[in-house]
Amino acid sequence: MTSAGRFAPSPSGELHVGNLRTAMLAWLFARSTGRSFLLRVEDLDRARAGAEAVQLRDLEAVGVTWDGGVVRQTARGRLYEDAIRRLGDAGLTYECFCTRREIQEAPSAPHAPQGAYPGTCRNLDPAEREFKRSIRPAAIRLRSAVQEFTVHDVLHGEFPGVVDDFVLRRNDGVVAYNLAVVVDDADQGVDQVVRGDDLLPSTPRQAYLASLLNIPLPEYAHVPLVVNSDGARLAKRDGAVTLADLAGAGVSANAVRDRLLASLNLPAGTLEQALAAFNPATLPRQPWVWSGP
Ligand SMILES: [Zn+2]
Repeated sequence: MTSAGRFAPSPSGELHVGNLRTAMLAWLFARSTGRSFLLRVEDLDRARAGAEAVQLRDLEAVGVTWDGGVVRQTARGRLYEDAIRRLGDAGLTYECFCTRREIQEAPSAPHAPQGAYPGTCRNLDPAEREFKRSIRPAAIRLRSAVQEFTVHDVLHGEFPGVVDDFVLRRNDGVVAYNLAVVVDDADQGVDQVVRGDDLLPSTPRQAYLASLLNIPLPEYAHVPLVVNSDGARLAKRDGAVTLADLAGAGVSANAVRDRLLASLNLPAGTLEQALAAFNPATLPRQPWVWSGP
């Protein structure tokens, strides 16, 4: 099995400078540790026609290259269903018929962490389950034996987080991110996961799920996001934030790349040139404020 890092965008629109910065970091983490680097398109949900091609072109324009072909989640349904079946065979799943509203209105179990699924459908008797099946399709949830799980992160150290009976497959049939990401990383030999730190809170759930599937945990590095001048996570509405927007404002892809490298205390130039100076220990730990073109 190869040793690899990856970048895994959702093709829901164009990448902005925050996404490109995270991709560059994932590349630098992987290459600086002798890993290969893979690109996976997470298109199970919210995919927009044509977005993937633009994203791949923009990644290459800032120097993010990858090994092998692009993998798409929509082509991998069998792997996810296999994992859900294995968990089911081990008694680790159950059907949930709750609507979002029912979950919000249900009294939470004593000592349950905030926002955790209240367990309404955990122990339905067969007759009840049969009746609910006739009303609406079921989501599949994990029957978790813990309420918390701790992961180690290169930048955040020990990080304990909530694990509840989270959804593995939604009731519309779409496989949940938490399941797909664990299965994909394992299947692709990804042993280093570098991504935005907005995903850190869900990482303990994924790591716990990996442990149930006998998957060794990858090295995690959750990197600071790019924010706008109000301190909010950068978004399309923040003006010229994509390579196309910036080209329109006279800023070349190379200039964007150099500016992102500078935000990481790295010298201007190609990513290969930046490798020599790359050191996770000296990366800025605060969000980086994008001030426009
Ligand atoms: Zn339920």
